[in-house]
Amino acid sequence: MIQAGMNIARLGLAHGSHDEAQERVELIRRIAAEEKTPVGILIDLPGPKVRSANFGQEPVTFAEGSKLTLRVGNHASTAQNVEVDYAGLISDIDPGDVVSIGDGRVMVKILDATDDQLNAEVAHGGTLSGRPGIHIPAERLSLATPTPEDMVAVERFAALKVDMLAVSFVRSAADLVRVGTPSHPEGPLVIAKIETAEAIKNLPEIIEASGAVMVARGDLGLECGIEGLPSIQKHIIRECISSGRPAITATQMLETMIENPEPTRAEVSDVANAVWDGSSAVMLSGETAIGVDPVNVIATMARIVDHADLAFDHRSWADDLAEIRLTDRKVPETSITDAMTLATARAVNELGIKTILCISGSGFTVRSMARFRPKARILGYSANENTVGQLSLSWGTEPRLLPTEGAIEGRIMAAVCLARDSGDLQEGELVAVLAGTSESSRSTNVLRIQIVPAAE
Ligand code: PEP
Repeated sequence: MIQAGMNIARLGLAHGSHDEAQERVELIRRIAAEEKTPVGILIDLPGPKVRSANFGQEPVTFAEGSKLTLRVGNHASTAQNVEVDYAGLISDIDPGDVVSIGDGRVMVKILDATDDQLNAEVAHGGTLSGRPGIHIPAERLSLATPTPEDMVAVERFAALKVDMLAVSFVRSAADLVRVGTPSHPEGPLVIAKIETAEAIKNLPEIIEASGAVMVARGDLGLECGIEGLPSIQKHIIRECISSGRPAITATQMLETMIENPEPTRAEVSDVANAVWDGSSAVMLSGETAIGVDPVNVIATMARIVDHADLAFDHRSWADDLAEIRLTDRKVPETSITDAMTLATARAVNELGIKTILCISGSGFTVRSMARFRPKARILGYSANENTVGQLSLSWGTEPRLLPTEGAIEGRIMAAVCLARDSGDLQEGELVAVLAGTSESSRSTNVLRIQIVPAAE
């Protein structure tokens, strides 16, 4: 999967134990090191997500009109009886409600309730496997995020220095603050999963409190209505661009590839349009978790995004961004970064420069540069190993460790030579180097355009 183009592995803690997830963290790290390819690790905290008990690996078919019961439990689910791991099931769902199982793959209408079960009828049939989510509107759920189980995972996986932690069902900035890890790069990038109606209302404060954002279209589509999703997706991504936060577009991107060797034409368009909307990353879920050929899915997605990037209108994007590029008007240094990254984007266009070499402490310079979607590749150098892992989420960025600290002059020279010696830059080519001279992590005040020197 790494060879096919995977930059980040998401480990969803809703599926499997913490021990299994830790084994996978270690496995991914070992193989990424063997492949000499940085792969970020994202731990996805389940939050108060209600799930059914396991259906098993083989798809279970729900025929339209067939009757079933829903009960509280976590043992096993069948087409006749779905067990649900939520104690409030009977009280929070009413007769007449239509409940979605598995991001809308199966819809059941609740007919009536007894003390210990809901009787239902399949309104839209389909197949389910594994432990699909059951949608209960966020305003009815009494549980808060992060849950106590999430906090146990936060402690364990932050100590393992994973690169990112995603918080599910965020409703306000306070939900992110409660995670309590040190701010990045010392702690992980905290990703706000936008999947509730309340999160849309509180979007600016949530983005401000986050390290990155995920457009979690599965639950969001159920909360806000699927017809509103495309414009909500564009809105969230644009807000992220203006605040310098990476945005991940997620869910059902190549859904039919769970079974099929090729995606539908509509899915190809969806992935390309997510790139053109300004997504920093596009995410796969079931396609690679339970699909028949995860490597083929990743290779297909990589081909689609490479093609979309080639067709990207870099010039008009940069002009457009000049209008919205303000990171944070309250912090004066960030407007210097805005101006420097805009100047860099223009310079690489005018001079046909192929590589921008960013030297960054916290990753702020790289993320600010990546927003411009320059035609050039971005090499993101940092002396901080945490930053290097976190940069796997930044658009078009190849993260690199710079084992030199100290004065800016020495760091620029060291980075240029390292890039040349590893074959990232060729002797005699023009490179744009972007860096900051001050200790402040949020100011980028040096742009140097230079010829790559010959090796001594
Ligand atoms: C989503 O709901 O779209 C999502 C990404 O969350 P999860 O895959 O954890 O259900």
